[in-house]
Amino acid sequence: MSPPTPDDAAAGAAETTRLGATLRDATLLDAVWDAHTVRELPNGDTQLFIGLHLIHEVTSAQAFSMLRDMGLRVRHPERTFATVDHIIPTDSHRRPFADELAEAMMTELERNCREHGVHFFDPTRGEQGIVHVIGPELGLTQPGMTIACGDSHTSTHGAFGAVAFGIGTSQVRDVLATQCLSIARPKVRRIEIGGRLQPGVYAKDVILHVIQRLGVKGGIGFAYEYAGAVIEAMTLEERMTVCNMSIEGGARCGYVNPDETTFAYLRGRERAPQGAAFERAVAWWRSIASGPKASYADRVSFDGSAIPPTITFGIHPGQSVGIGARIPRPDDVPADERASLEEALAYMGLRPGAPIEGTPIDVAFIGSCTNGRLSDLREAARVAAKGRVARGVKALVVPGSQAVARAAEAEGLPEVFRAAGFEWREAGCSMCLAMNPDKLVGREMCASSSNRNFKGRQGSPAGRTLLMSPVMVAAAALNGRVTDARELL
Ligand code: SF4
Repeated sequence: MSPPTPDDAAAGAAETTRLGATLRDATLLDAVWDAHTVRELPNGDTQLFIGLHLIHEVTSAQAFSMLRDMGLRVRHPERTFATVDHIIPTDSHRRPFADELAEAMMTELERNCREHGVHFFDPTRGEQGIVHVIGPELGLTQPGMTIACGDSHTSTHGAFGAVAFGIGTSQVRDVLATQCLSIARPKVRRIEIGGRLQPGVYAKDVILHVIQRLGVKGGIGFAYEYAGAVIEAMTLEERMTVCNMSIEGGARCGYVNPDETTFAYLRGRERAPQGAAFERAVAWWRSIASGPKASYADRVSFDGSAIPPTITFGIHPGQSVGIGARIPRPDDVPADERASLEEALAYMGLRPGAPIEGTPIDVAFIGSCTNGRLSDLREAARVAAKGRVARGVKALVVPGSQAVARAAEAEGLPEVFRAAGFEWREAGCSMCLAMNPDKLVGREMCASSSNRNFKGRQGSPAGRTLLMSPVMVAAAALNGRVTDARELL
């Protein structure tokens, strides 16, 4: 199947000229939104054209079934791409899956893709991976696009300067049927991270810090535009980690303005524009970046130099502390946060006022759409090479895609992890959500590079999650307790 064009609603030199004159004062969000607006609806929403629709096995089955009931077909199969990620076992991708429900979901996805002419990134062809990992690595995700997927962490794709958000099952149906969504335009909050990160501090620490400071509901009604020296210095993979967790801060989406780092990442990718089309696309991509006179509904800034390695201690991603800090006491927090903190401490079994460093763990999980990319695995392997997984700790490394796995294998990373006592698995979401057999057991405590620490998130109703960067997970695996990875790096 031929690659989709870059988002045709907006691409091309003519568009660049027409829009370029007016876009200098607009945010990227507004520029992309306006370029994709079909019409304003009477309820105030926008009928928004969706340039790229990514689907997976969990939220698409019911949507396809509704489509079938209505006698409709997928409107733009060439803009729709499917993968299997949540339910796929990671010990082996061999069919049929032992879990009959997982096998049925996989079979249903294959059937729907076949019937509607949608490209399925098939594990047997080495194309499979987490939906938010494969879109970018294939070059499907491009600046200036509108991207939707029936998964909360679609915000990941904003790292390229796309407007990308998660949608529910009935909206998946709507996009399949019409390639459009009815949706409210968010306001834009610019979040500037200035200064320079200290060694051993990663993108994961940055976004955990932002969510800790702005709150898990602080972003409601907003798109987060990330900027500043720290963001500009980040690789695309690091920007994806930041944008991925925008939704955990309550934002509708998060994005970074496209720049030379973005263009260099995309050049030559399989499904990115090629040759002269790429140069035309770059001209458009440059033109949609927020202009110097763009106005924002809100602006906040943080000093990146002051961000420590950050770990969650509670039951939402905003409950976190720096590695050198103590777990807060109920008296330390504002009155309206006290009940939530007490609930978190009771669930997690952590002592208020105790240092987070040294908290014992049972499981270590490196993977997910937040931190399952090659650079994450490389950094974690640097730590894994320093020792052996502590006795009694189960440690898993799960690449975000089969392409990531191949690249890691070419660098010898699985051998490093295996020598240290980690299990090297096949690609999938795995223990991030535990819709496959990779689950916590009982009250196990998991050091995890994923993005959610809600009660029961990792498969056991009583399981406990400590979110942190991949290097911190690797360090915790070696020591059997939360550890400052900088001591090992
Ligand atoms: S890795 Fe986790 S957050 Fe990401 S798509 Fe899979 S289940 Fe969702």
